[in-house]
Amino acid sequence: MSASLSARLRFHPYSRRFRSALFTPLGVWSSRLGLVVRLEAGDRVAYGDITPIPWFACESFDEAFQFCSRWRGPVTEETIAAIPATLPATRFGLGWAWEQLQGHPWGASHPAEGAKGSGGCDRADDQLLDPTLGDSPQPHGIPGNTALDPAQPNQNQLHILPSLPLGWLLPQGNRALDAWQDPWDQGWRTFKLKVGDGSWEQELTRIETLRRGLPEGGQLRLDANGKLTLEQAHQLLALGDRLGEQGYPLEFVEQPLPPEAWMDLQALERTYATPIALDESVTTVTQLRHCQDQGWGGIFVLKPSLAGFPWEVRALWEDRGQEGGAHNLGKSGLDLVMSSALETAIGHQAAMTLAHQWHQQSHAPRAAGLGVQGFLEQDGLDSPTAGEVWKFVNFLGVGVG
Ligand SMILES: [Mg+2]
Repeated sequence: MSASLSARLRFHPYSRRFRSALFTPLGVWSSRLGLVVRLEAGDRVAYGDITPIPWFACESFDEAFQFCSRWRGPVTEETIAAIPATLPATRFGLGWAWEQLQGHPWGASHPAEGAKGSGGCDRADDQLLDPTLGDSPQPHGIPGNTALDPAQPNQNQLHILPSLPLGWLLPQGNRALDAWQDPWDQGWRTFKLKVGDGSWEQELTRIETLRRGLPEGGQLRLDANGKLTLEQAHQLLALGDRLGEQGYPLEFVEQPLPPEAWMDLQALERTYATPIALDESVTTVTQLRHCQDQGWGGIFVLKPSLAGFPWEVRALWEDRGQEGGAHNLGKSGLDLVMSSALETAIGHQAAMTLAHQWHQQSHAPRAAGLGVQGFLEQDGLDSPTAGEVWKFVNFLGVGVG
């Protein structure tokens, strides 16, 4: 990194409404609070997104807001590095903006240079989105951008994303039973179902029917958000093993029990053939490494936007070989699914970029949990340039915080 670079921090909070309320471990989540940060150094501008989730082990929105509000003086390599580990979402958002400001970390030209002096806001007409894309998520990124180097995310072209297989979230209830068909026809192959909210017997029946109904090549992953009882977890994993023996395996069961039930999660992982993924248990890179050190042999779901500095996330796979087996990062040691924290277009590009980088390294990459467009109301924060997102966030965020 450039040790001499010095930038000015600006930031703005935002509140985004969901199209329909999400049910979470803390109850109904109707609006999403976050912060867009902007770093300015001379005529160079870069942006990041701070997106805490209330029931994950990261800072609260208020803590991130207070931290940015109290920032005094220039942003430098030293002050970025000094952001406390207790603020992992802030580390990610500011760290990402810091990398982009430098055209870092692959020696790329600065993403905002094409809009020199304009704060990265300008955009030529030929850079507009393909209007046929609407806001439907694409299973393999936006087609037709094969010349794009995904190592050079361009904040003037936030909707140009690396090609990446993504998972499709199915609706709950019996609607799930045929809701995979349209996305299947569009090329989606990995489907995710939230479980643990309805009648348990009916849910088990529905899961079995759904899995048996998927065509060959289809994958089904289940996410319990830590809500199952131990008995329910046993029942679900036994069902998964039975289905697997009959040729209909579940891809994995995500967080069947809450993080506190660590010993039970470990025992389940050793007992059943159906893979288990940790999500709420591993908000940050530090927590993920801790679980590896404790011998976790299953999958990890990581939201990079909550996990700490982007370079800490990359170190999960880049450390391989340097640290030997210290973190069980041997050839098959890291089984990782990158997923969304419901970011703005700025944070979504960041998460997609990191997911792509991981996929490039992985021996058997899994679909990323980043097919989430359409959950939030159209409020301008999914605009195709970071400059436009900044304009909208200034408009929308008034009165928040
Ligand atoms: Mg999950």
